[in-house]
Amino acid sequence: MKTFAMTGGATGIGAAVKEQLIARGDKVVVVDIKNANIEADLSTSEGRQHAIDQLQVLCAYGIDGFIACAGLGPHVTPFSLITQVNFFGATVVIEGITALLKAKQGSVVVVSSNSAALPGLNDDYLNALLNNDEDKACEIIADLDGHNAYAGSKNALARWMRRKTPELMAQGIRINAVAPGMTVTPLTDQVFADETYGQAMQDFSKMIPAGFMATPEMIADSIVFLLDPASRYVCGSVLFVDGGQDALLRADNF
Ligand code: NAD
Repeated sequence: MKTFAMTGGATGIGAAVKEQLIARGDKVVVVDIKNANIEADLSTSEGRQHAIDQLQVLCAYGIDGFIACAGLGPHVTPFSLITQVNFFGATVVIEGITALLKAKQGSVVVVSSNSAALPGLNDDYLNALLNNDEDKACEIIADLDGHNAYAGSKNALARWMRRKTPELMAQGIRINAVAPGMTVTPLTDQVFADETYGQAMQDFSKMIPAGFMATPEMIADSIVFLLDPASRYVCGSVLFVDGGQDALLRADNF
């Protein structure tokens, strides 16, 4: 039995990952704001520290795999909440549990998004995130929009993951990202119902080469693959799981 830990396992993609790991007999410790082994608000530094402290207790012998899945959609306000949960709720917790991952030569998957590759993101915001400057990132995003907050947080998360790869690999820890496309979850239900983003989402959903949105299980399958020894030489990769939408929009960029 392996020990996995994750954020955002209460609903959607995270819940599907949790179910798959539990079904094969593994232990899964979930950090979430609700319905979790460790209830913590990852938008705050106190919540992140609580999560790290409790993971040290509940996974004292080490962590075989960690999934940073908690996230908020572009419809959420204030926009700084998206920044705090999607980027810092992932990076700070991973930094805080590196020793536990090293103990088991574990692997990490961060959940980015195919929207991370969309054009027009604000460079000052991205740089503030990549410089680990939470106050500045929150200050900048207050004057921007939900798209920048969301896609920017996912872009910076993928780049943070790639920058971190050599340092973690030197400790025997693999890290990768999945970049899901549109997936049927409570998050997308809320964005579809949103006045500002609903129509854009409808239009975007019609441009999926596969012709349909993913189920959470489809994304979970890819995450579980990236956690497994079957992917043992995959390090620092961003795996687009989006029915071909990124290839449609950016065929020549990879
Ligand atoms: P979801 O809303 O079902 O799941 C998000 C989870 O994050 C929930 O369990 C929620 O409780 C948790 N969470 C939210 N705020 C939190 C906080 N402050 N502290 C702790 N936990 C918190 O949505 P989902 O679609 O399953 O999203 C999972 C991940 O996949 C997110 O990171 C999301 O950005 C990403 N993603 C989703 C899609 C999609 O189309 N659904 C596409 C690309 C990427």
